[in-house]
Amino acid sequence: MDSELDLQALGFSSPDQKRGSLVIAGPCSAESQQQVMHIAEALSRYGLGLYRAGIWKPRTRPGDFQGVGSQGLPWLQKVRQRTGMQVAVEVATPWHAEQALAHHMDVMWIGARSTANPFTVEEIARALKGTNIPVLVKNPISPDLSLWIGAMERFNKHGLKKIGAIHRGFSCYAKSALRNPPQWEIPLELKRRIPDLPLIHDPSHTTGDRELLYETAKKALHLQMDGLMIEVHHQPEKALSDSHQQITPQMFQHLLEQLNIEINNEPGAKAEELVHLRQQIDQLDDRLLEIMGQRMQVSQEIAHVKAKHRLNLLQKERWQKLMARRVARGQQKGMSRRFIESVFKIIHKESLERQKDKQNQDASAGRKHEHHR
Ligand code: PEP
Ligand code: MN
Repeated sequence: MDSELDLQALGFSSPDQKRGSLVIAGPCSAESQQQVMHIAEALSRYGLGLYRAGIWKPRTRPGDFQGVGSQGLPWLQKVRQRTGMQVAVEVATPWHAEQALAHHMDVMWIGARSTANPFTVEEIARALKGTNIPVLVKNPISPDLSLWIGAMERFNKHGLKKIGAIHRGFSCYAKSALRNPPQWEIPLELKRRIPDLPLIHDPSHTTGDRELLYETAKKALHLQMDGLMIEVHHQPEKALSDSHQQITPQMFQHLLEQLNIEINNEPGAKAEELVHLRQQIDQLDDRLLEIMGQRMQVSQEIAHVKAKHRLNLLQKERWQKLMARRVARGQQKGMSRRFIESVFKIIHKESLERQKDKQNQDASAGRKHEHHR
């Protein structure tokens, strides 16, 4: 049976929705606030729009690094605040989902081990009901397309419409060069059945080997997948999880270049730094307006005096001197003659018009006065 998922655009502000351009990157695991921020700042400089970090790690063996837990969520909030990137975490229980919502994560993803369990998926979907947060569903560890589609349908049934799929290969016992062989026919069949579903590829978990990322990612893009999720760590060999498959931010940039992927977004549009500078501009413009208003007031008083002494409104010599002085001052401050001249021509023109109006008003008031005597 073909599925009829009710879908909406994912709504990430960052990657535009062109094929092959939905890029998500960041460390396998958040390890410390410094590590999370360091990697985020580097990726943000390369124009990344959506940052990932695992907070709760679904580990195969109990002794492995389990993730930093909820304390990592504020670190990701800081990433968004400082860089403007959106942030994504994996949620594997309803409680994770609630925590992630409470900390305003922008996107959630469901890991391969969770997708394999319909009870877990159902419970997480219920926890997210009523939010319409984007949910990316990784394929289940076993090569079972129905289970994958079923998981997405569960979210859809609870009203979530911003759904995407992540292909990360399928676990197999036989020895293979790849950690999770891709079995490309499965994501291709998914695409055939639900053509509008955004489908992105995760070469990091598919290959388990940073040397193989390029070939696998290229293949995925060749098969018309919509983007990539890639694990990036500033010191991959020291990473607390998946150290063989992570790459540095520089390698990430190089990989995107090799793959001819351009991330189209205004990097750091909401970055704190930018917000701060824009506030300064707003304040300076307020001061400019205040000063221009005062200048117009004084100019009207001048009109009064000129009328009293029967002087022409336009005093050519004065105007030429004034302009020369403004240009010189402006140039000292690094502004061009052309700019200063055009600004002061407009100000002067407005000022003369105000003076004319003022004199006309005064004159007609004077005539009335005369008339009533
Ligand atoms: C991950 O993205 O870090 C992860 C655990 O992936 P997967 O669920 O694909 O194994
Ligand atoms: Mn990982």
